[in-house]
Amino acid sequence: MSYCSYCRNQPKDSIHHWYHDEVYGKMSEDDNELFGRLVMEINQAGLSWNTVLQKYEGLKLAYSQFNLQKVSMYKEQDISELMGNKNIIRHELKIRSIVYNAQQILEIQKEFGTFKNWIMLQNQISIENWVKLFKKNFKFVGKEIVKEFLSSNGILKGAHDKECPEYLK
Ligand SMILES: [Zn+2]
Repeated sequence: MSYCSYCRNQPKDSIHHWYHDEVYGKMSEDDNELFGRLVMEINQAGLSWNTVLQKYEGLKLAYSQFNLQKVSMYKEQDISELMGNKNIIRHELKIRSIVYNAQQILEIQKEFGTFKNWIMLQNQISIENWVKLFKKNFKFVGKEIVKEFLSSNGILKGAHDKECPEYLK
């Protein structure tokens, strides 16, 4: 079964159904939400998407509703607290990368207005170049993470399969 069919077969109020219909493959207008998607993809590394999505609310709460300003200012104390939070994925390198990436996105905003603008300016580049660009600016951004992040935002095609009602949207 494809990811699309799987999600659409879940109850209407399930997180999978919501994510599939409302988020997946659609570009967000909100930089904090874009950051949240990057946080989700980083957290997924080495785990199943189901595991991460089940922790979505916990992650959002733990990371200040994915507020870039707030996360960028996290200190050692905040990182220790996150390491002790069983509602999230307690992986120190992931946590530290997320804080670093929030700081980097703020730098990008200074130069390009928004993170979204910066993404949209990279016109038609190959996945290899996307990965290079992400590695230059961020941490914990391997090829799969970058690919999933871009698909989740509709930058890379193929988020939805051809039979999916979201495919043509
Ligand atoms: Zn779909």
